[in-house]
Amino acid sequence: MSKHVGFIGLGAMGTPMAERLLNDGYTLTIFDVNAAVAQALAAKGAHVAASPQAVADAVETVLISLPTPDIVKQVTTGPAGLIHGSKVKTVVDLSTTGSSMAQWVHAALAVKGVEFVDSPVSGGRGGAIAGTLAVMVSSQTATYEQLTPILKNIGKLFFIGDKPGMAQTMKLANNLLSAAAMAATSEAIGMGVKAGLDPSIMIDVINAGSGMSTASRDKFPRAILPRKFDYGFTTALMYKDVRLCMQESQDLGVSMPVANAVRDMWQKTNDDFGGDQDFTNIIRVVEQSMGVEVKGKA
Ligand code: NAD
Repeated sequence: MSKHVGFIGLGAMGTPMAERLLNDGYTLTIFDVNAAVAQALAAKGAHVAASPQAVADAVETVLISLPTPDIVKQVTTGPAGLIHGSKVKTVVDLSTTGSSMAQWVHAALAVKGVEFVDSPVSGGRGGAIAGTLAVMVSSQTATYEQLTPILKNIGKLFFIGDKPGMAQTMKLANNLLSAAAMAATSEAIGMGVKAGLDPSIMIDVINAGSGMSTASRDKFPRAILPRKFDYGFTTALMYKDVRLCMQESQDLGVSMPVANAVRDMWQKTNDDFGGDQDFTNIIRVVEQSMGVEVKGKA
């Protein structure tokens, strides 16, 4: 398979993933509405295209890492979208968009003979930099084999199934757990601080005990206890993921009361502290309601 691929959406996740491909000897044709991030990658050897269509005119395989389902729809099927490109055969969506959007885009691109592969990732910006993401793929099996040399650069691959949207469902299940762990850990630590416990000791105990999660292991020590709020994932994206999960539960006709409560807490974080802020701000919702401050030892 050609070592020339396209990459669209060079944000917190896209740039480190694209850099890993450059480092593996891939030639990249890139596009981002933010010219500055595209230029930063051009300085490392990538070719900047003028639109998604121009990327799809240049390469057979295009990877995209975009913030919302609507933007994925626009970049793939809108004016100057990938669908109008002359060369593209496969579009790999690394974004979190939900299974219904994946199915919709898959059907739209299939009309033009282009396969849309949903391949959301988990593991955060740190995982994107290190190439240790969990990469969930739903596609035809032959396509999965063709994509493996490319995708193995960004993490560990999991073939989820051959129906469009299956990998998105997997991703939403994973992120519900991540979102719930942040919400529940925030509440538990807030309660302890209200009772006079030291939050640093609480986190140490939880990490040695049965309450451990990525919230207690990574997010609290790195971004909440030192009051940095800079983990690298926005509240808007976490809130989006939980809403997509609720949409999924409605589509499937299943009730998910825990997910409902988790969604409410992320909605409040989004409304009170801003969607563009780091998602570790969820602790401030608890602090506000309990009248505490969760601050670790210096
Ligand atoms: P981001 O906002 O940092 O980056 C998105 C990039 O897309 C930006 O550079 C933006 O300029 C670009 N963009 C927006 N509209 C565009 C358009 N119309 N055409 C071309 N480029 C456009 O987001 P991110 O954190 O990198 O997340 C990307 C996706 O990956 C999201 O779907 C997110 O849910 C998912 N994700 C993020 C993380 C994380 O930790 N940040 C982890 C796993 C999955």
